[in-house]
Amino acid sequence: MKIAVRMDDITPCMDWENFERFRGLLKEYGVKPLVGIVPDNRDENLNKDKDGGLPEEYFWEQVKVWKSEGWTVALHGYQHLYTQKKGGCFPLNRFSEFAGLSLEQQKRMLQAGKDIFTSHGIETDIFMAPAHSYDINTLRALKELGFMKLTDGFGSKPYMRGGIIFYPISFKLSSSLKKKQGVTTMVIHTNTMKDLDFDKCRRIFQSEEIISYEEYLKLKAVRRGWIGNAVEYGMASVKRLLVKFL
Ligand SMILES: [Zn+2]
Repeated sequence: MKIAVRMDDITPCMDWENFERFRGLLKEYGVKPLVGIVPDNRDENLNKDKDGGLPEEYFWEQVKVWKSEGWTVALHGYQHLYTQKKGGCFPLNRFSEFAGLSLEQQKRMLQAGKDIFTSHGIETDIFMAPAHSYDINTLRALKELGFMKLTDGFGSKPYMRGGIIFYPISFKLSSSLKKKQGVTTMVIHTNTMKDLDFDKCRRIFQSEEIISYEEYLKLKAVRRGWIGNAVEYGMASVKRLLVKFL
């Protein structure tokens, strides 16, 4: 399979050393990822920088630099706080910032996140749900606010659901790498990467066909019905249990 790269949890106080190390790897192999930026991060678990992070203004300038280098930007939630104990439509986790809240509340949060992006001159129509969890109301709210693309779900090509185009992530990366056809997304959390993870990524960049996220976005989406959605829901539940018990 072809591989696109997405990076989660990009904030002013992330582990910049790890981030820059990974950015170096991306540059070396000409990989242009999708970066999920938390507009107003309040999740202490994401504050990993040993020097306390970078000033906000500098951070947003960096986002513009990455965009100018061909990176793609997604809205990664609003404050990244898991106030809900719901897995929603894609239950890889049983917690969420969005799933379980009313449509109006979700709209308010997404609008607030979008406004922060706009105030820094950043536009996007791609959403990356914290903990991969969203529900039907999230999809409605996204559509009403002009977010037409979402990075999540399982599959080998982009698909349409509820009027939104989903760009699937990998169920199990090692199995995806063995498949010949299709495209999937490798999900990267630089905050928690160790030396071995960097080595693994280098091997993948060396041996696999990596496509830029921009290219991934150009692929045509297929329609997906309720059977496909039900299979995906089952796979996400199985994956959650495997991670929990293995
Ligand atoms: Zn996250």
